[in-house]
Parts: sequence; structure tokens; C-alpha cells
Amino acid sequence: MSSVNGGRDTVSTSWGSSAGLSGLGWYVPRLRLASKQWQKAWPGVSTDGGVTVAVPDSDEDVVTMAVEAADGALADAGISIDDVDEIYLASASGPYTTKSSAAMVGAGLGADRARTVDFGGSTRSIGDALTAALDAVAHGRVRRVLVIGSDFLPATPGDTLETRFGGAAGAAVVDAEARLLQARAAGSVLSTATTHWRCSGAKFVQRYDDPRLEREGSVVPNLVRSAASILEPEDLFVLPGTAAKFERLIAKESGHPRVSAQARTLAGVIGDTGNAHSLVALAEALSEAPTSVVVGFEGSGAGASAIRFTVPEAADLSRRQAVLPAVSDGALIDYVTFLKATGKLAPSDTSGPASPYSASPGWMRDERHLLAPTGALCSACGSLNYPPRSICIDCRGSDLTEVLLPRTGTVLTYNVQHIVPISPEEAPVAVCVAQMEGGRADGYGGKVTALMLREAAEDVRIGSEVRLIFRRAGVEHGMVRYGYKFGLRESSS
Ligand SMILES: [Zn+2]
Repeated sequence: MSSVNGGRDTVSTSWGSSAGLSGLGWYVPRLRLASKQWQKAWPGVSTDGGVTVAVPDSDEDVVTMAVEAADGALADAGISIDDVDEIYLASASGPYTTKSSAAMVGAGLGADRARTVDFGGSTRSIGDALTAALDAVAHGRVRRVLVIGSDFLPATPGDTLETRFGGAAGAAVVDAEARLLQARAAGSVLSTATTHWRCSGAKFVQRYDDPRLEREGSVVPNLVRSAASILEPEDLFVLPGTAAKFERLIAKESGHPRVSAQARTLAGVIGDTGNAHSLVALAEALSEAPTSVVVGFEGSGAGASAIRFTVPEAADLSRRQAVLPAVSDGALIDYVTFLKATGKLAPSDTSGPASPYSASPGWMRDERHLLAPTGALCSACGSLNYPPRSICIDCRGSDLTEVLLPRTGTVLTYNVQHIVPISPEEAPVAVCVAQMEGGRADGYGGKVTALMLREAAEDVRIGSEVRLIFRRAGVEHGMVRYGYKFGLRESSS
């Protein structure tokens, strides 16, 4: 149900108690650029306030971060990708203008039947994606929607926005059970007030060099107005990244003191992460065990929106992991490493045949095996054939069923290479063969070859427990190749 109230441009929606969130996940890349490092490269230019920003490495982007966050949300909800009817991806910085990033995310998650939808054009899109998902569930059109916000907005080298924009993804499982949060109402404000923008074909975001525009003309007043008709006294107001530094002002302007203080702290560590920010900040806010929250969304040139949720009595928030402690010890990088990770500094014309290394042995065989590693399970001997074959590698049987490859395994052997061809991979590179879980342990089947993540290249040992992680594996004709690397599982590190 929609009704217009509270002025000609404030729209509010209410959902009763028929839809909400049952799982939340987030992903923040490990690299951090500190404002102090940035100022060494650009002395005298003022920074944008945060201490550090999170930086996706050269093998990460909006799609890979979204897959990681979505995996977390599915695990939090206790469901698998097969339980999801639709996947919505909200991003303003995906790898393509024409080609679906949501479809790539769906494929990376191993989705077979889910419909994928791209929301974009604004950092407010995640609020619109959530609203659409809540509507679809509340009206019984679908049972479950996976909603993901993922961004790393591109800033011009030397622009202070490099000290503001960070990379991250946040994901939520929307369904009628609403085990974490019940959606109650939403407010929305239309405004074309623009503080930063990126033109078609442009690589970087442009901006007006006047902070008053955000404070007085767009971010603050729009958020306050979008939440005005739904905010109740006990609500914790969770802010998007653009608004985090205005936390005290928003508390004052809205007459609402319970603005999540964590928003400012989080933005100071990971940066303004666009469409990811409100969901990551919501995950952080839930660890404060509130009884109700209002989540704000804002996009330059698109106005603002807000959704009010209440915490069901049965929900136990006491054991929820806070985000801040987990993201506070990122790896600090210098400015040259930042430029290389973000692709702003690259050897000329390496757009040739993809990465120097394949990230999975299936990368040249079939796209499905690359994006969602699938194996063929032999009914006769239990061997897990990877890549899938029509004749079992262990017993020559031919009764094989295609299955999603288990993502965890144990390293059988590896080598570390200290000389590499040109970027994006940097030495040392560890190439590992792992026996994946499932299937029989004594045969040829079930072995996967892939690179170890760069940061773990020198820590890998025979017997290390690893998991497959969706990453970029080079670019060909402008098209990103995706594949898998191994990461060490926490239990073995
Ligand atoms: Zn067999």
C-alpha cells in the first residue's frame, strides 16, 4: 500500500507485519588507505575526514564483494541459494554499463533459477531494492529475495574523494518470516539536488567543492525529511555513508537523539561505501541490540529514503557479531599500492589474453564451471569429478549427477613462484592443489587447482584448510574474467 502524506514529495509505505529481514551479511576488503598516506602523495590537499578507507584489491570488484556478502547473509539466515527466488544487486560502480552485474553475482552464488535484477544509477538504490523486495514478499509474489548493495565509487587521482570512498558490500535476506527485523514503514523524498555525479563514459566521479551543499541543501535535509513521518522515539537511526559525518547535525535537525554513533566510526574506518553502507551499518547497529531501527539511504541527485524496522521479540541479537572489531585491523597500504589495486596505475595495454594465471582449471572450458564451480558426483564409487566429466575419472562409471562443488577443502600440494609475468598478479604466487570435501578421498576426483590469495601466499602448507573464494582473474576485451582463488580458513590460520 502506498499513500502520499506529509507534503507533496514525501511518500510513505507501510507493510504491517508480513515482510522483513531474516539474515544479514557484509564484506569489507582487507586493504586500507590511510588519509596520512594519501597526503604524502598529495601534500597540502585536505582529506575528507576519515582515518582510512577500505580498498578492494586488483582481484576484487563490486561483483566479487557482493558474492561474499551474500554468502554471509545466506549463512546468517540458515538457507542456501536454492531457497532464493530473486536476487537484487544495487550498485553505482559495477564493472559494466551494458551487461548485468546482478547476473554475474547470481552465477557466482551458484543460483540456478533465481531471477536477477540490477538497481543502479544512485547510492540510494539499495533502499529502493529493499523496498521492492519487501513489497514482493508482502504481496506474496515471491517467498524470498536476496538484496545486495555493493560499491566502490571511482575517484580521480588526487581528488580528496579518494579519502572518502571505500569499498564494501552488504546483503540481506528478505522474507515473510522476518526473523531479524520486521519492516514497518518507509518514507521517501524526491530531490535532484546534486553534490557528486559521474557522466556516461566517464571513469571518475565529479563533485562540487562546497560542503554546504550536503549539509544544507541535500544529504542532511533530505534524510531528515524522508525519516520524519516514520521515526519513533525509541528508534535507532542508522545513516548511510554520505551522512555519517553529519551524525550530530541530523540528531539535532530531526529532533531525534538516537542516531547510531557507529555510523561515523564505521565510515571513518571503511569510508563511504555507497550502496553497501546502510546494510553494513545496520549489521553493526544490530550488535547494539536495539528494539527498532530506521535505516536511511541517500543518493546524490536522487533524494533520500528510509525504512523503519522493529525487532521481533523472538529475535536474539545478543550474540550478533559487530562489524567494527572485524574491520579495524585492515592492511595499511601506500599510495602506489592503492593506485595499482584500483587499476589507476597499470602497465599500458594489458587487455590481452586475461590474467597470466588461470584461477581455476575450468576457466577455459565452460563459463558455468568457472563462475559456479560444479562437479559431477559418481553414483557408483562416490568420486567427485571436477571439472565435470561424462565418464568417472576413478571407476569409468557413467551415472554422474551435476552438483555444486563444496567450497572447502584441504591442500594436497603447492608451489610458490617468485617470478611472474606482468600484472595483475604479483609475486610471490602460490599455486595450490586441494582435495575438496565430499566425494571419496582416495581417488583422482575432487581436486581443484587455484591460486592462493595474495596475502596468504607464504602461509600455505600441505594440510592447510582452504575455501574457494570468488575473485577477478583478469580482463579480456574489456570483459572481466571471474574465477576462484583459495583462501585459508580461519580454523587453520
Ligand atoms: Zn566413479
